[in-house]
Amino acid sequence: MRRNRIYLTVCFAFILLFSVNKIFAQSNEIKLVFGNPSGATADLSNENNYLVAHTGYILSYNRERGAANWVAWHTSKTDIGKLRINSFAPDTDLPKEWWIKPTDYKFSRYGYQRGHMCPSADRSAESDANIETFKMSNMQPQTPELNERTWRYLEEYTRTVVKKGNEAYVYAGCYGNKGKIKDKITIPTNCFKIILFVATGGNDLDRVTGTTEIIAVDMPNSDVVNRRWRSYVTTVDEIEAKTGYDFLDTLPEDIENSLEQIKYGN
Ligand code: MN
Repeated sequence: MRRNRIYLTVCFAFILLFSVNKIFAQSNEIKLVFGNPSGATADLSNENNYLVAHTGYILSYNRERGAANWVAWHTSKTDIGKLRINSFAPDTDLPKEWWIKPTDYKFSRYGYQRGHMCPSADRSAESDANIETFKMSNMQPQTPELNERTWRYLEEYTRTVVKKGNEAYVYAGCYGNKGKIKDKITIPTNCFKIILFVATGGNDLDRVTGTTEIIAVDMPNSDVVNRRWRSYVTTVDEIEAKTGYDFLDTLPEDIENSLEQIKYGN
C-alpha cells in the first residue's frame, strides 16, 4: 500500500514537472517566423550579433554599438491597450559589462532620445509586456524629430492597420555611425523598418503571397527629417543592400524576391 502511494506521488510529480515545463516552453516560445536576418546566435563570443529572445520581442545585440542591430516582433489587436509604464532599465539578459544604463543617454550633448524599436504602445495591454519594451537593448539614440514624429507616425499607422483585423510582423533597427554618446552608444545615421501585414488568422508564414502588404522605410536620424513617413518608403532589397542583412528568407524564394521589390504605395 505504502509503496503504491510513493509510486503514485513520484508519478504525479513527474507529470506535474513535465506539464509545467511544457507550459513554460510554449509561453516563452517566440519565433523568428520570417527569419534571423543577421544569423544572430546566443553565443557570448558573438558579441556584435548576439541573439536575445525576450517574451515579446527578439533582437540581435551589438556590443560595439551599445544597441541592437535589429529587433523583431509581432503585433496583434490583443497586444494593444492603454498602458505605458515608463521603466527604462538595463537589459539584464546581457552580461553586465555590456549593459547600457538609462542614464547613459542623458550625457548626449545633442539631445538624442531613447527611441523604442518595439514600441511601448505595441505592448500596452499587459504590464509585464509593456515594462519589457523599456529594456535599453530596445532603444536607439534618435533625434526628437524622428522619435516623436516620423518614426512615431509610422508606428501609429501600423496599429491602425492592425486594429482593422490584421497582424503585423516587424523588423526595426538602425545603421550607420555619426558619433558616440559617452563612448558607449553609436548614434546611427539611419533607422529602418520592415512591416509585413497578414489578415488575422493562423499559419501566417503559409498565407504570405508575393503581393502581401509590406512597408519598408529607411529614415535619416536627423533633426530635419520630413514628418511624412511615406517620403522614406523604400524596398527590402535596398535595406538589405545597406545593412548586409537578409530578411524574409524563410519564405519561398519567388515570394521573397517579389516582396523585397515592393515600394509601398507606388
Ligand atoms: Mn531577403
